[in-house]
Amino acid sequence: MKRIAVTGGAGYIGSHMCRQLAGHGHEVVVIDDLSGGHREAVRWGRLVQCSLLDAPALSRALREARCDAVIHFAGAIAVGESVADPLKYYAVNVCGSLNLLQAMREAGVPHIVFSSSAAIFGEPRQAFIDERHPIAPISPYGRGKAMVERMLCESVQAYGIAAVALRYFNAAGAEPSATIGESHDPETHLIPRLLRHSAGQAEPVEIYGDDHPTHDGTCIRDYVHVDDLCAAHLAALGHLDAHAGFDAFNLGNGNGYSVREVVAAVEAVTGRSVRTRLAARRAGDPARLVACPDRARAVLDWKPATPALEAIVESAWRWHRAPAY
Ligand code: UDP
Repeated sequence: MKRIAVTGGAGYIGSHMCRQLAGHGHEVVVIDDLSGGHREAVRWGRLVQCSLLDAPALSRALREARCDAVIHFAGAIAVGESVADPLKYYAVNVCGSLNLLQAMREAGVPHIVFSSSAAIFGEPRQAFIDERHPIAPISPYGRGKAMVERMLCESVQAYGIAAVALRYFNAAGAEPSATIGESHDPETHLIPRLLRHSAGQAEPVEIYGDDHPTHDGTCIRDYVHVDDLCAAHLAALGHLDAHAGFDAFNLGNGNGYSVREVVAAVEAVTGRSVRTRLAARRAGDPARLVACPDRARAVLDWKPATPALEAIVESAWRWHRAPAY
């Protein structure tokens, strides 16, 4: 049994992580300022309401948590917004992570698992992105995530902590009982937007460009079930017990779906047709992001339990039909 501090534990992926940690007998301390997260989603472990930008309060929170490791989800998440408001992203995601690392040093916390992103790779140079792919982000969001990875790498060498960065492709879905799920305001992500529409929201869903260099002109992404992502974090915690240093893994299923294919999957699962409207490309969006997950499979023994897109959408639909918050 470990005690784990989860930043952003009131958020979408963070709350799923807390549920899994508790299910594996770990004690959870959620550190979240509730700017994007939901108090109702903190059901496994206690909440310390604290912003990562409040360095003294964060240091105090980590000292008091007396944790064995930090899983760091807290941050701003929208690629498009990061282009419109880059300083928000450097403040929240980069300065927030810097404060967290300082607080970890002060509190003597040795291990961190960091939510990184496929956005660090920019326009891919290969169809399936592995860990050797150059880091060349094309959005402030991606650049911020890449900066934090660098900070982790250098902190590992300088201070003797150990860190794993997990580069998520596109998180989606909800845990089986659908008591927690994806709920952002505003919602910018494709699958929840489509499902909100299916659940009765009147607005058509915009498709950001059909002139990308893909088979149907819409962007291709690799959607991963949120519980599979969380399972990789549990494996990463185990990895940190046995391996010093910094390591990074790309987390996707290795299957790419275009925006139009996701629309079709949502229609198949819900039995309702989706009204879409073609819109301009969204700034900062690469045409295709699909993982080569071989390394996570080999080193972390990570095998996604729910790789099929329709099953992922189906689990999200159970939440969206009756969201609790
Ligand atoms: N997308 C879209 N319409 C929307 C939201 C997203 O066409 O209303 C596209 C977006 O351009 C991207 C894909 O769907 O290619 C997934 O976007 P999302 O915001 O869900 O995740 P991201 O890939 O930005 O992390």
